[in-house]
Amino acid sequence: MARRLVIIGGDAAGMSAAAQARRMTTAGELEIVAFERGSVTSYAACGLPYLVGGIVEGPERLVARTPEQHRANGIDVRIRHEVTAIDARASTVTVRDLDTGRTAVEHYDELLIGTGASGIAPPWPGIDADGVLQLRTLADAADVERLLGAGARRAVVVGAGYIGLEVAEGLLGRGLAVTVVERLDAPMGAVLDADMAAPVADAMRAAGIDLRLGTAVTGFTTVDGRVTAVETAAGPVAADLVVIGLGVRPNIDLARAAGIRVGEAGGIIVDDHLRTGTPHVWAAGDCVESRHRITGRSVVVALGTHANKQGRVAGTNIAGGDAAFAGVLGTAITRFRNLEIGRTGLTEREAGAAGFDAVGVTTEASSRAQYYPGAQPMRIKIVAERRTGRLLGAQIVGGDGAGKRIDVLATALWNGMTVEEVGGMDLSYAPPFSPVWDPVLLAAGKAAAKV
Ligand SMILES: Cc1cc2nc3c(=O)[nH]c(=O)nc-3n(C[C@H](O)[C@H](O)[C@H](O)COP(=O)(O)OP(=O)(O)OC[C@H]3O[C@@H](n4cnc5c(N)ncnc54)[C@H](O)[C@@H]3O)c2cc1C
Repeated sequence: MARRLVIIGGDAAGMSAAAQARRMTTAGELEIVAFERGSVTSYAACGLPYLVGGIVEGPERLVARTPEQHRANGIDVRIRHEVTAIDARASTVTVRDLDTGRTAVEHYDELLIGTGASGIAPPWPGIDADGVLQLRTLADAADVERLLGAGARRAVVVGAGYIGLEVAEGLLGRGLAVTVVERLDAPMGAVLDADMAAPVADAMRAAGIDLRLGTAVTGFTTVDGRVTAVETAAGPVAADLVVIGLGVRPNIDLARAAGIRVGEAGGIIVDDHLRTGTPHVWAAGDCVESRHRITGRSVVVALGTHANKQGRVAGTNIAGGDAAFAGVLGTAITRFRNLEIGRTGLTEREAGAAGFDAVGVTTEASSRAQYYPGAQPMRIKIVAERRTGRLLGAQIVGGDGAGKRIDVLATALWNGMTVEEVGGMDLSYAPPFSPVWDPVLLAAGKAAAKV
Protein backbone atom coordinates (compact mmCIF):
# COMPACT_ATOMS: atom_id res chain seq x y z
CA MET A 1 0.00 0.00 0.00
CA ALA A 2 1.20 3.52 -0.76
CA ARG A 3 2.56 5.62 2.09
CA ARG A 4 0.89 8.99 2.45
CA LEU A 5 2.70 12.36 2.48
CA VAL A 6 0.58 15.28 3.68
CA ILE A 7 1.82 18.80 3.05
CA ILE A 8 0.55 21.93 4.78
CA GLY A 9 1.05 24.98 2.54
CA GLY A 10 0.97 25.02 -1.25
CA ASP A 11 3.68 27.51 -2.13
CA ALA A 12 7.47 27.49 -2.51
CA ALA A 13 8.55 25.09 0.24
CA GLY A 14 5.50 22.80 0.22
CA MET A 15 5.22 22.37 -3.52
CA SER A 16 8.99 22.07 -4.05
CA ALA A 17 8.91 19.19 -1.59
CA ALA A 18 5.89 17.69 -3.31
CA ALA A 19 7.42 17.95 -6.78
CA GLN A 20 10.72 16.46 -5.65
CA ALA A 21 9.06 13.57 -3.82
CA ARG A 22 6.91 12.96 -6.90
CA ARG A 23 9.98 12.84 -9.16
CA MET A 24 11.52 10.18 -6.92
CA THR A 25 8.50 7.94 -6.27
CA THR A 26 5.54 6.50 -8.10
CA ALA A 27 1.95 7.12 -6.99
CA GLY A 28 1.87 3.44 -5.98
CA GLU A 29 4.70 4.09 -3.52
CA LEU A 30 3.74 7.52 -2.21
CA GLU A 31 0.42 9.36 -2.25
CA ILE A 32 0.98 13.14 -1.98
CA VAL A 33 -1.76 15.43 -0.68
CA ALA A 34 -1.18 19.18 -0.24
CA PHE A 35 -3.58 21.44 1.68
CA GLU A 36 -3.50 25.13 0.85
CA ARG A 37 -5.87 27.57 2.53
CA GLY A 38 -5.58 30.11 -0.27
CA SER A 39 -6.89 29.84 -3.81
CA VAL A 40 -3.61 29.57 -5.68
CA THR A 41 -0.51 27.41 -5.49
CA SER A 42 3.14 28.00 -6.36
CA TYR A 43 2.88 31.74 -6.82
CA ALA A 44 5.86 34.09 -6.85
CA ALA A 45 5.34 36.53 -3.99
CA CYS A 46 8.71 37.99 -5.02
CA GLY A 47 7.05 39.30 -8.17
CA LEU A 48 4.23 41.14 -6.38
CA PRO A 49 5.99 44.54 -6.21
CA TYR A 50 6.60 44.35 -9.97
CA LEU A 51 2.97 43.38 -10.57
CA VAL A 52 1.85 46.39 -8.56
CA GLY A 53 4.39 48.53 -10.44
CA GLY A 54 2.98 47.43 -13.80
CA ILE A 55 6.21 45.71 -14.92
CA VAL A 56 4.64 42.23 -14.74
CA GLU A 57 1.61 42.13 -16.99
CA GLY A 58 -0.91 40.19 -14.93
CA PRO A 59 -1.31 38.05 -11.82
CA GLU A 60 -1.44 34.82 -13.81
CA ARG A 61 2.18 35.48 -14.86
CA LEU A 62 3.22 34.97 -11.22
CA VAL A 63 1.67 31.53 -10.88
CA ALA A 64 4.34 28.95 -11.70
CA ARG A 65 1.98 25.97 -11.34
CA THR A 66 -1.76 25.90 -10.93
CA PRO A 67 -3.53 23.30 -8.77
CA GLU A 68 -4.63 21.56 -11.99
CA GLN A 69 -1.02 21.33 -13.19
CA HIS A 70 0.03 19.86 -9.86
CA ARG A 71 -2.80 17.35 -10.02
CA ALA A 72 -1.77 16.36 -13.54
CA ASN A 73 1.67 15.74 -12.04
CA GLY A 74 0.25 13.30 -9.51
CA ILE A 75 -0.04 15.67 -6.53
CA ASP A 76 -3.46 15.91 -4.94
CA VAL A 77 -3.68 19.65 -4.22
CA ARG A 78 -6.68 20.85 -2.24
CA ILE A 79 -7.00 24.62 -2.28
CA ARG A 80 -9.23 26.52 0.14
CA HIS A 81 -8.46 23.81 2.71
CA GLU A 82 -6.98 24.95 6.00
CA VAL A 83 -5.20 22.62 8.39
CA THR A 84 -6.39 23.57 11.86
CA ALA A 85 -4.58 20.98 14.00
CA ILE A 86 -1.85 18.36 13.93
CA ASP A 87 -2.05 15.25 16.10
CA ALA A 88 1.47 13.87 15.93
CA ARG A 89 0.62 10.83 18.13
CA ALA A 90 -2.23 9.72 15.91
CA SER A 91 -0.40 10.87 12.73
CA THR A 92 -3.38 12.93 11.60
CA VAL A 93 -4.24 16.50 10.67
CA THR A 94 -7.61 18.19 10.97
CA VAL A 95 -8.61 20.02 7.82
CA ARG A 96 -11.40 22.52 7.24
CA ASP A 97 -12.87 23.01 3.79
CA LEU A 98 -13.22 26.79 3.72
CA ASP A 99 -16.01 26.69 1.12
CA THR A 100 -18.30 24.14 2.76
CA GLY A 101 -17.16 24.63 6.36
CA ARG A 102 -16.80 20.84 6.69
CA THR A 103 -14.01 19.39 8.79
CA ALA A 104 -12.19 16.12 8.17
CA VAL A 105 -9.40 14.20 9.87
CA GLU A 106 -6.70 13.05 7.46
CA HIS A 107 -4.04 10.42 8.14
CA TYR A 108 -0.38 10.86 7.21
CA ASP A 109 2.69 8.66 7.20
CA GLU A 110 4.92 11.69 6.65
CA LEU A 111 3.95 15.31 7.26
CA LEU A 112 5.66 18.39 5.84
CA ILE A 113 4.90 21.78 7.39
CA GLY A 114 5.38 24.57 4.85
CA THR A 115 3.14 27.20 6.38
CA GLY A 116 5.39 30.16 5.57
CA ALA A 117 5.37 33.41 7.49
CA SER A 118 3.01 36.33 8.11
CA GLY A 119 3.78 40.00 7.87
CA ILE A 120 4.29 41.74 11.21
CA ALA A 121 1.23 43.84 12.01
CA PRO A 122 1.57 45.82 15.25
CA PRO A 123 -1.65 46.47 17.17
CA TRP A 124 -1.83 50.05 15.94
CA PRO A 125 -5.26 51.72 16.06
CA GLY A 126 -6.80 51.64 12.59
CA ILE A 127 -4.56 48.90 11.18
CA ASP A 128 -7.63 46.97 9.97
CA ALA A 129 -9.00 49.96 8.04
CA ASP A 130 -9.75 49.74 4.35
CA GLY A 131 -6.69 50.98 2.49
CA VAL A 132 -4.14 49.57 4.96
CA LEU A 133 -2.59 46.37 3.69
CA GLN A 134 0.46 44.17 3.37
CA LEU A 135 1.72 42.96 0.01
CA ARG A 136 2.05 39.21 0.53
CA THR A 137 -0.46 37.53 -1.80
CA LEU A 138 -2.07 37.98 -5.19
CA ALA A 139 -5.23 39.03 -3.32
CA ASP A 140 -3.24 41.87 -1.70
CA ALA A 141 -2.02 43.00 -5.14
CA ALA A 142 -5.63 42.95 -6.34
CA ASP A 143 -6.52 45.11 -3.35
CA VAL A 144 -3.91 47.67 -4.39
CA GLU A 145 -5.44 47.72 -7.90
CA ARG A 146 -8.89 48.25 -6.41
CA LEU A 147 -7.67 51.22 -4.38
CA LEU A 148 -5.86 52.71 -7.36
CA GLY A 149 -9.02 52.24 -9.41
CA ALA A 150 -10.96 54.05 -6.68
CA GLY A 151 -8.68 57.05 -7.08
CA ALA A 152 -5.90 56.55 -4.50
CA ARG A 153 -3.21 59.15 -5.17
CA ARG A 154 -1.19 59.34 -1.96
CA ALA A 155 0.60 56.23 -0.79
CA VAL A 156 2.48 55.71 2.43
CA VAL A 157 4.82 52.76 2.79
CA VAL A 158 5.59 51.85 6.40
CA GLY A 159 9.05 50.30 6.67
CA ALA A 160 12.00 50.82 4.33
CA GLY A 161 13.21 47.22 4.08
CA TYR A 162 13.43 45.24 0.83
CA ILE A 163 9.72 45.00 0.30
CA GLY A 164 9.06 48.60 1.32
CA LEU A 165 11.62 49.78 -1.21
CA GLU A 166 10.26 47.61 -4.00
CA VAL A 167 6.67 48.62 -3.31
CA ALA A 168 7.62 52.31 -3.11
CA GLU A 169 9.29 52.05 -6.50
CA GLY A 170 6.23 50.32 -7.94
CA LEU A 171 3.75 52.88 -6.62
CA LEU A 172 5.96 55.75 -7.75
CA GLY A 173 5.96 54.20 -11.19
CA ARG A 174 2.15 54.23 -11.13
CA GLY A 175 2.20 57.99 -10.62
CA LEU A 176 1.39 58.12 -6.90
CA ALA A 177 2.88 60.56 -4.43
CA VAL A 178 4.85 58.21 -2.15
CA THR A 179 5.98 58.75 1.42
CA VAL A 180 8.11 56.13 3.15
CA VAL A 181 8.08 56.19 6.94
CA GLU A 182 10.90 54.32 8.68
CA ARG A 183 11.62 54.08 12.40
CA LEU A 184 15.36 53.55 11.94
CA ASP A 185 17.73 56.26 10.75
CA ALA A 186 18.40 54.61 7.40
CA PRO A 187 16.56 52.63 4.75
CA MET A 188 17.36 48.90 4.87
CA GLY A 189 18.88 49.62 8.24
CA ALA A 190 18.39 46.04 9.40
CA VAL A 191 20.53 44.57 6.61
CA LEU A 192 23.00 47.30 5.57
CA ASP A 193 25.52 49.32 7.55
CA ALA A 194 24.75 53.04 7.73
CA ASP A 195 27.45 54.09 5.22
CA MET A 196 26.00 51.67 2.67
CA ALA A 197 22.42 52.75 3.29
CA ALA A 198 23.16 56.43 2.63
CA PRO A 199 23.17 56.14 -1.20
CA VAL A 200 19.86 54.27 -0.98
CA ALA A 201 18.28 57.15 0.93
CA ASP A 202 19.73 59.60 -1.63
CA ALA A 203 18.30 57.61 -4.54
CA MET A 204 14.86 57.43 -2.93
CA ARG A 205 14.75 61.17 -2.33
CA ALA A 206 16.12 61.95 -5.81
CA ALA A 207 13.28 59.86 -7.27
CA GLY A 208 10.75 62.05 -5.46
CA ILE A 209 9.96 59.90 -2.43
CA ASP A 210 9.24 61.77 0.79
CA LEU A 211 11.50 59.63 2.98
CA ARG A 212 10.92 60.14 6.68
CA LEU A 213 13.62 58.41 8.68
CA GLY A 214 13.72 58.06 12.44
CA THR A 215 9.94 58.35 12.43
CA ALA A 216 7.76 55.94 14.39
CA VAL A 217 4.22 55.14 13.26
CA THR A 218 1.66 55.18 16.06
CA GLY A 219 -1.60 54.42 14.22
CA PHE A 220 -3.96 55.42 11.43
CA THR A 221 -6.69 58.03 11.09
CA THR A 222 -9.82 56.62 9.50
CA VAL A 223 -13.06 58.07 8.18
CA ASP A 224 -15.98 55.67 7.65
CA GLY A 225 -13.61 52.73 7.99
CA ARG A 226 -11.17 54.02 5.36
CA VAL A 227 -7.66 55.24 6.07
CA THR A 228 -7.03 58.95 5.55
CA ALA A 229 -3.69 59.41 7.32
CA VAL A 230 -0.81 57.62 8.98
CA GLU A 231 -0.18 58.93 12.48
CA THR A 232 3.48 59.29 13.40
CA ALA A 233 5.37 60.66 16.37
CA ALA A 234 6.20 63.63 14.12
CA GLY A 235 2.60 64.27 13.01
CA PRO A 236 0.14 62.83 10.48
CA VAL A 237 0.89 61.92 6.85
CA ALA A 238 -2.14 61.99 4.54
CA ALA A 239 -2.76 58.65 2.82
CA ASP A 240 -5.27 56.94 0.53
CA LEU A 241 -3.26 53.73 0.50
CA VAL A 242 -0.86 52.32 3.10
CA VAL A 243 1.41 49.34 2.56
CA ILE A 244 3.04 47.87 5.65
CA GLY A 245 6.42 46.19 5.20
CA LEU A 246 7.83 45.50 8.64
CA GLY A 247 9.25 42.03 8.12
CA VAL A 248 7.72 38.67 8.93
CA ARG A 249 7.15 36.11 11.65
CA PRO A 250 7.10 32.37 10.96
CA ASN A 251 3.67 30.71 11.06
CA ILE A 252 4.35 28.23 13.85
CA ASP A 253 1.10 28.12 15.83
CA LEU A 254 0.00 24.75 14.42
CA ALA A 255 3.41 23.22 15.08
CA ARG A 256 3.69 24.64 18.58
CA ALA A 257 0.21 23.44 19.53
CA ALA A 258 1.22 19.94 18.39
CA GLY A 259 4.30 19.95 20.59
CA ILE A 260 6.74 20.40 17.70
CA ARG A 261 9.77 22.35 18.89
CA VAL A 262 10.12 26.04 18.12
CA GLY A 263 13.41 27.89 18.62
CA GLU A 264 14.43 31.21 20.10
CA ALA A 265 14.56 32.89 16.70
CA GLY A 266 10.84 32.09 16.38
CA GLY A 267 10.88 29.32 13.78
CA ILE A 268 10.37 25.56 13.85
CA ILE A 269 13.60 23.78 14.78
CA VAL A 270 14.82 21.42 12.07
CA ASP A 271 18.05 19.51 11.44
CA ASP A 272 19.96 19.73 8.17
CA HIS A 273 17.64 17.08 6.68
CA LEU A 274 14.63 19.30 7.57
CA ARG A 275 13.40 16.83 10.20
CA THR A 276 11.68 18.34 13.22
CA GLY A 277 12.31 16.48 16.47
CA THR A 278 8.86 14.86 16.12
CA PRO A 279 8.90 11.52 14.24
CA HIS A 280 7.71 11.69 10.61
CA VAL A 281 7.20 15.47 10.76
CA TRP A 282 9.31 17.68 8.50
CA ALA A 283 9.29 21.44 7.99
CA ALA A 284 10.73 23.81 5.39
CA GLY A 285 10.67 27.42 4.20
CA ASP A 286 9.81 30.64 5.99
CA CYS A 287 8.40 28.76 9.00
CA VAL A 288 11.76 27.22 10.03
CA GLU A 289 15.02 28.32 11.56
CA SER A 290 18.20 27.79 9.56
CA ARG A 291 21.84 27.60 10.56
CA HIS A 292 23.81 30.73 9.74
CA ARG A 293 27.06 29.51 8.21
CA ILE A 294 29.19 32.29 9.70
CA THR A 295 27.84 32.58 13.24
CA GLY A 296 26.58 29.00 13.58
CA ARG A 297 23.44 30.44 15.15
CA SER A 298 19.84 29.59 14.32
CA VAL A 299 18.18 32.36 12.32
CA VAL A 300 14.98 33.01 10.45
CA VAL A 301 15.84 34.30 6.99
CA ALA A 302 12.56 34.32 5.10
CA LEU A 303 13.62 34.15 1.47
CA GLY A 304 12.36 32.26 -1.53
CA THR A 305 15.86 30.97 -2.28
CA HIS A 306 15.91 28.99 0.95
CA ALA A 307 12.26 27.89 0.79
CA ASN A 308 12.76 26.29 -2.62
CA LYS A 309 16.01 24.56 -1.65
CA GLN A 310 14.68 23.36 1.68
CA GLY A 311 11.52 22.04 0.04
CA ARG A 312 13.63 20.08 -2.40
CA VAL A 313 15.85 18.68 0.37
CA ALA A 314 12.84 17.66 2.46
CA GLY A 315 11.15 16.07 -0.57
CA THR A 316 14.29 14.08 -1.36
CA ASN A 317 14.57 12.76 2.19
CA ILE A 318 10.88 11.97 2.51
CA ALA A 319 11.12 9.99 -0.73
CA GLY A 320 13.92 7.89 0.72
CA GLY A 321 16.93 9.83 -0.60
CA ASP A 322 19.62 11.59 1.40
CA ALA A 323 20.05 15.35 1.08
CA ALA A 324 21.14 18.09 3.46
CA PHE A 325 20.47 21.82 3.58
CA ALA A 326 23.84 23.50 4.02
CA GLY A 327 22.75 26.65 5.84
CA VAL A 328 22.34 30.32 4.95
CA LEU A 329 24.47 33.42 4.59
CA GLY A 330 21.62 35.92 4.30
CA THR A 331 22.57 36.71 0.71
CA ALA A 332 19.99 39.03 -0.80
CA ILE A 333 19.58 41.50 -3.62
CA THR A 334 17.14 44.23 -4.53
CA ARG A 335 16.94 47.38 -6.55
CA PHE A 336 15.61 50.86 -6.29
CA ARG A 337 15.26 52.23 -9.82
CA ASN A 338 18.83 52.11 -11.19
CA LEU A 339 20.46 51.51 -7.85
CA GLU A 340 21.28 47.87 -7.19
CA ILE A 341 21.74 46.66 -3.64
CA GLY A 342 23.29 43.35 -2.62
CA ARG A 343 24.43 41.91 0.68
CA THR A 344 25.78 38.66 2.07
CA GLY A 345 27.00 37.40 5.42
CA LEU A 346 27.38 39.81 8.32
CA THR A 347 27.32 43.58 8.30
CA GLU A 348 30.01 45.28 10.38
CA ARG A 349 27.42 45.86 13.09
CA GLU A 350 26.24 42.23 13.04
CA ALA A 351 29.82 40.93 13.10
CA GLY A 352 30.55 43.00 16.19
CA ALA A 353 27.37 41.81 17.87
CA ALA A 354 28.28 38.19 17.07
CA GLY A 355 31.59 38.64 18.90
CA PHE A 356 33.95 38.93 15.94
CA ASP A 357 36.86 41.37 16.00
CA ALA A 358 35.74 42.76 12.64
CA VAL A 359 37.11 45.36 10.25
CA GLY A 360 34.82 47.10 7.76
CA VAL A 361 36.43 48.58 4.65
CA THR A 362 34.45 50.59 2.10
CA THR A 363 35.69 51.09 -1.46
CA GLU A 364 34.38 53.37 -4.22
CA ALA A 365 34.79 51.89 -7.68
CA SER A 366 33.42 52.06 -11.20
CA SER A 367 31.15 49.53 -12.89
CA ARG A 368 33.09 49.68 -16.18
CA ALA A 369 36.42 50.96 -17.46
CA GLN A 370 36.39 54.70 -16.73
CA TYR A 371 36.67 55.53 -20.44
CA TYR A 372 33.81 53.24 -21.48
CA PRO A 373 30.41 54.96 -21.87
CA GLY A 374 27.90 54.25 -19.13
CA ALA A 375 30.37 53.61 -16.29
CA GLN A 376 28.56 54.10 -12.99
CA PRO A 377 29.82 54.42 -9.44
CA MET A 378 29.71 51.44 -7.12
CA ARG A 379 30.37 51.20 -3.42
CA ILE A 380 31.52 47.92 -1.88
CA LYS A 381 31.93 47.22 1.78
CA ILE A 382 33.93 44.22 2.92
CA VAL A 383 33.68 42.96 6.48
CA ALA A 384 36.59 40.74 7.55
CA GLU A 385 38.02 39.28 10.71
CA ARG A 386 41.05 41.15 12.00
CA ARG A 387 44.32 39.20 11.84
CA THR A 388 42.94 36.05 10.11
CA GLY A 389 41.55 38.11 7.22
CA ARG A 390 38.60 35.74 6.95
CA LEU A 391 35.76 37.25 4.93
CA LEU A 392 32.67 37.72 7.13
CA GLY A 393 30.34 39.65 4.88
CA ALA A 394 29.92 42.13 2.07
CA GLN A 395 27.54 44.80 0.84
CA ILE A 396 27.35 46.40 -2.60
CA VAL A 397 25.38 49.45 -3.69
CA GLY A 398 25.73 50.87 -7.16
CA GLY A 399 24.61 51.16 -10.75
CA ASP A 400 24.24 48.67 -13.55
CA GLY A 401 26.03 45.37 -12.78
CA ALA A 402 26.70 46.13 -9.12
CA GLY A 403 24.08 43.92 -7.48
CA LYS A 404 24.86 40.46 -8.82
CA ARG A 405 28.57 40.95 -8.01
CA ILE A 406 27.47 40.06 -4.48
CA ASP A 407 27.29 36.44 -5.65
CA VAL A 408 31.06 36.37 -6.18
CA LEU A 409 31.53 37.45 -2.59
CA ALA A 410 28.83 35.05 -1.37
CA THR A 411 30.69 32.21 -3.08
CA ALA A 412 33.94 33.24 -1.41
CA LEU A 413 32.17 33.51 1.92
CA TRP A 414 30.51 30.13 1.48
CA ASN A 415 33.93 28.59 0.98
CA GLY A 416 35.56 30.31 3.93
CA MET A 417 38.04 32.40 1.92
CA THR A 418 40.19 35.21 3.26
CA VAL A 419 40.05 38.70 1.77
CA GLU A 420 43.60 38.19 0.49
CA GLU A 421 42.48 35.12 -1.44
CA VAL A 422 39.44 36.98 -2.81
CA GLY A 423 41.68 39.85 -3.94
CA GLY A 424 43.73 37.44 -6.04
CA MET A 425 40.84 35.62 -7.74
CA ASP A 426 40.70 35.25 -11.51
CA LEU A 427 37.65 37.38 -12.34
CA SER A 428 36.68 38.38 -15.87
CA TYR A 429 37.48 41.74 -17.43
CA ALA A 430 36.59 43.67 -20.56
CA PRO A 431 35.91 47.45 -20.64
CA PRO A 432 32.08 47.23 -21.04
CA PHE A 433 31.85 45.04 -17.91
CA SER A 434 34.46 46.24 -15.43
CA PRO A 435 37.72 48.06 -14.94
CA VAL A 436 40.80 45.84 -15.23
CA TRP A 437 40.67 45.54 -11.44
CA ASP A 438 37.10 44.45 -10.84
CA PRO A 439 35.48 46.35 -7.94
CA VAL A 440 35.33 43.05 -6.00
CA LEU A 441 39.09 42.57 -6.35
CA LEU A 442 39.77 46.20 -5.46
CA ALA A 443 37.58 46.04 -2.37
CA ALA A 444 39.04 42.74 -1.18
CA GLY A 445 42.58 43.98 -1.76
CA LYS A 446 41.89 47.11 0.26
CA ALA A 447 40.41 45.02 3.06
CA ALA A 448 43.41 42.66 2.99
CA ALA A 449 45.71 45.63 3.52
CA LYS A 450 43.67 46.72 6.53
CA VAL A 451 43.28 43.41 8.41
C1 LIG B 1 6.41 41.09 -1.67
C2 LIG B 1 7.43 40.01 -1.46
C3 LIG B 1 8.62 40.03 -2.17
C4 LIG B 1 9.57 39.05 -1.96
N1 LIG B 1 10.73 39.11 -2.68
C5 LIG B 1 11.66 38.13 -2.54
C6 LIG B 1 12.85 38.15 -3.31
O1 LIG B 1 13.06 39.03 -4.16
N2 LIG B 1 13.75 37.14 -3.12
C7 LIG B 1 13.54 36.12 -2.22
O2 LIG B 1 14.39 35.22 -2.11
N3 LIG B 1 12.40 36.08 -1.48
C8 LIG B 1 11.48 37.06 -1.62
N4 LIG B 1 10.31 37.01 -0.87
C9 LIG B 1 10.12 35.92 0.11
C10 LIG B 1 9.54 34.66 -0.52
O3 LIG B 1 8.38 34.96 -1.22
C11 LIG B 1 9.26 33.68 0.59
O4 LIG B 1 10.46 33.41 1.27
C12 LIG B 1 8.67 32.36 0.08
O5 LIG B 1 7.45 32.57 -0.55
C13 LIG B 1 8.49 31.40 1.25
O6 LIG B 1 7.92 30.23 0.81
P1 LIG B 1 7.12 29.29 1.83
O7 LIG B 1 6.55 28.20 0.99
O8 LIG B 1 7.99 28.94 2.96
O9 LIG B 1 5.99 30.21 2.44
P2 LIG B 1 4.77 30.95 1.72
O10 LIG B 1 5.14 31.39 0.36
O11 LIG B 1 4.31 31.97 2.69
O12 LIG B 1 3.68 29.80 1.60
C14 LIG B 1 3.07 29.24 2.70
C15 LIG B 1 1.70 28.78 2.26
O13 LIG B 1 1.11 28.06 3.33
C16 LIG B 1 -0.27 28.36 3.37
N5 LIG B 1 -0.73 28.04 4.73
C17 LIG B 1 -0.29 28.56 5.89
N6 LIG B 1 -0.91 28.00 6.94
C18 LIG B 1 -1.76 27.07 6.42
C19 LIG B 1 -2.67 26.17 7.01
N7 LIG B 1 -2.84 26.10 8.32
N8 LIG B 1 -3.38 25.36 6.18
C20 LIG B 1 -3.22 25.43 4.83
N9 LIG B 1 -2.39 26.27 4.25
C21 LIG B 1 -1.64 27.09 5.01
C22 LIG B 1 -0.32 29.83 3.02
O14 LIG B 1 -1.60 30.19 2.54
C23 LIG B 1 0.77 29.95 1.96
O15 LIG B 1 0.27 29.81 0.65
C24 LIG B 1 9.33 37.99 -1.05
C25 LIG B 1 8.13 37.95 -0.34
C26 LIG B 1 7.18 38.94 -0.55
C27 LIG B 1 5.89 38.89 0.22
